[in-house]
Amino acid sequence: MTTSIQRAARRSEITIDLGALRSNVRRLRAAAGEAELWAVVKADAYGHGAVDVARVALEEGAAALCVATAPEGEALRASFADARILVMGPLVPGEETFARESRLEIAVSRPEIPGGFPVHLKVDTGMGRYGMTEEEALSLSRDDVVGLMSHLATADEPDESFAREQLERFEKLAERFDGVVRHVANSAATLRFPDARFDAVRCGVALYGLSPFGNDPAEHGLEPVLSWRSHVAQAKELPAGASTGYGRRFRAERPTRIGLVPVGYADGFRRGLTGAEVLVGETRRRVVGTISMDSFAVELGDEPEGTPVTLLGDGILAEEHARTLGTINYEITCGIRVSAERAERKVRDG
Ligand SMILES: *Cc1c(COP(=O)(O)O)cnc(C)c1O
Repeated sequence: MTTSIQRAARRSEITIDLGALRSNVRRLRAAAGEAELWAVVKADAYGHGAVDVARVALEEGAAALCVATAPEGEALRASFADARILVMGPLVPGEETFARESRLEIAVSRPEIPGGFPVHLKVDTGMGRYGMTEEEALSLSRDDVVGLMSHLATADEPDESFAREQLERFEKLAERFDGVVRHVANSAATLRFPDARFDAVRCGVALYGLSPFGNDPAEHGLEPVLSWRSHVAQAKELPAGASTGYGRRFRAERPTRIGLVPVGYADGFRRGLTGAEVLVGETRRRVVGTISMDSFAVELGDEPEGTPVTLLGDGILAEEHARTLGTINYEITCGIRVSAERAERKVRDG
């Protein structure tokens, strides 16, 4: 490969730090106590790469993998012949055959249960999304029922009262399902409510070193797994009064050096990130002007062209970009477009 092709392929790159992932798995296993840790790797492991994440999670003692869809489960089965894989969302009509052949376990939200699967009864204890009633669950005592589950609507919110109500409803029902795996906790509940553990906990976001509470993950003993880097492709001097980008939303009050970074909203660096901070070299600097589809501008000191720019990682947290955008950290990593033409993906272990 020639240098120019290599450079062309690397507008930006994401690095997945498997050492950080291992440390988060251990942290969550400790938080889970006697309960099993199940690794939630839906949506390509929240943008981190499902196969690598699943492999490390299983190596570190996770007892099962959870995905949202049957095709996600089928794809994982190709790499993990023996792992327990649970599809938490409903199957789309027509998926039963390959889901069965892939030996997936399924969550069912209605009393009609397709045959030939290990089944987890998904009960709506207050999430108001997929899930059957407690009465329906109680009427379904069948041999193929291996699990009882529910999902919490507010485990990450300061007011605990609704989560506690849901846990009480689940607890009552769980007493009637002795002998099946009972699971309700997501990351937030695992870290916050010891009595939400039951037999297994289903952790996603915290595995990735992201805080389910939107604050600094270090406060929960978690390390971010994903970092995202690019570089200053071009530096330029804006004279006083000149602007950069669509809509002229940044105007230089005095002569100002800016750097153009070849990453934009098509890569997942969202258009609302004007004003966010990134690292130019080691220095925090402000994103200025409107983010374009394929590039954005950053204020510069005297950093030369080619200086690395860190969009996420080394202390630039997904949580702070989420705050700038009025969203949650989940959406930041899920939104990065990893491909040969955009963000290239690298994996580091140890
Ligand atoms: C996504 C999901 C989880 C994991 O939630 P986190 O907040 O990422 O830990 C757990 N259970 C269900 C049913 C989910 O859909």
